[in-house]
Amino acid sequence: MVVGEVSTSTDVLVIGAGPGGYAAALRAAALGREVTLVEREAVGGTCLNVGCIPSKVLIHAAELAHLPTRSTTSGVTLSASVDLARLQDHLREVVTGLTSGVDRLLAGAGVTVVTGTARFARANRAVVSDGDGVQHIEFDQAIVATGSRPVELPVLPFEGKRVVDSTGALFAFDRVPERLVVVGGGYIGVELGTAWAKLGSAVTIVEAESTLLPGLDARLARVATRSLTALGVEVRTATRALGPGPDGGLRLTDPDGSPDDEVTVPADAVVVCVGRRPNTDDLGLDVVGVTVDERGLIPVDAHRRAGPRVLAIGDVTDGPALAHKATAEAEVAARTAAGLPARFDPAAIPAVVFGDPELATVGLTRAQAEADGIEVTGFVFPLGASSRARTLAVDGTPPLGHVELVADADGTVIGAHLAGPNVSELVGEMALAIEMAATVEELAATIHPHPTMSEGLLEAANGALGLPLHVAGSRRS
Ligand code: FAD
Repeated sequence: MVVGEVSTSTDVLVIGAGPGGYAAALRAAALGREVTLVEREAVGGTCLNVGCIPSKVLIHAAELAHLPTRSTTSGVTLSASVDLARLQDHLREVVTGLTSGVDRLLAGAGVTVVTGTARFARANRAVVSDGDGVQHIEFDQAIVATGSRPVELPVLPFEGKRVVDSTGALFAFDRVPERLVVVGGGYIGVELGTAWAKLGSAVTIVEAESTLLPGLDARLARVATRSLTALGVEVRTATRALGPGPDGGLRLTDPDGSPDDEVTVPADAVVVCVGRRPNTDDLGLDVVGVTVDERGLIPVDAHRRAGPRVLAIGDVTDGPALAHKATAEAEVAARTAAGLPARFDPAAIPAVVFGDPELATVGLTRAQAEADGIEVTGFVFPLGASSRARTLAVDGTPPLGHVELVADADGTVIGAHLAGPNVSELVGEMALAIEMAATVEELAATIHPHPTMSEGLLEAANGALGLPLHVAGSRRS
């Protein structure tokens, strides 16, 4: 629906059509509610349009481009060339395929989709404007799912071509940048840095903290640093970007900003991914009795309720800014809005870094568990002992990576931290194990198919029981 001078009403108003908002709209409609979904840009939100999906297409294409440099010992000789314009078209085609699927689902569910920017005007009313007109929508319940946007560094404002955000790193370059600096060594920086290094850029990743991927299990972060270095990426931790330098370079220094430590690195392009900020500033939240915290996040209770008629989900709320967290919260918010009992109370939320190798994590790290006073047991199974990992190693070297299980004194699984090929596909099993309070004994008694990466979970469980099979001795972590 296009915005005009109209006034409508709805049971549930959802603002933002990302993986939080569109899922909430679909679920609320399935529960029999009349639903209006407002989106100011494109259905699918950050994730489908400029985040999860195009970045994974780029990462996959970059892996194909890089394969020839690694495949020779397998007896296969490949060659690759990169047509960046075609690759970017491919990104757009995959995105469109998925977003048009979401459009069809919404239409099929009877959700009214309104294009425009929504803002609360009264306790039960929002105003939607699209530049040409305004529409007033009265609602019984509203779900805020407006997501987040990239943080801009004052010293490195985005200008669209040379200094870009993650969206620019996917779509804005005319050619593969010869020298690319990624500012921010979180998961987005590591993923994009890996992809562009494989596409041919000389990549430097700059991270202000003392390690890449701050907050992730330290063993996983070490794997990332080692593998990036092996790929030729320069990793500069404990380093801060100061701004543009001479000859198009980027000035860097240590976190204290000491002028003696200042250096300039060459850069044809700079990708800044230093975090994201919730889109909560222009929503008129005060009108509906909602106050944001100092980070701009909307506080919610376990039912996702933020105010008398307002619920909130996804990146605008606390917790990891991840699509599957937004979608899981959407299920709860839709049920709450429909007057049904629901709580968001997961035992753990998995996370994946789609680098090379992939890193996947769920639950507590050993360090976190110990800091919580939990008596920890566990095991680290190295992938060099995994038959499947070896069959996948096209360059003949034992694969870098491991499967670590963390369990409490009773053997209940409380964490899993994985590095290796396709481990993104394994972490769901470990999320299930943690949700069901499975023990390492139960995991070890579960037959896993051979030869698969999933056997690493079995091997780590055996190890945690003190009975490792394919590694000598006991290597409890
Ligand atoms: P969003 O997806 O941000 O959607 C919010 C929507 O609200 C937007 O479409 C916006 O236009 C709209 N909106 C905002 N304000 C208004 C308003 N006032 N009126 C109307 N509409 C409004 N997560 C993963 O889980 N896995 C990944 O692999 C992954 N990769 C990523 C890669 C990149 C490069 C980036 C940037 C992010 C990635 N993420 C990933 C994170 C993921 O995209 C977000 O966590 C997820 O999109 C959040 O969903 P959301 O529904 O909360 O918000």
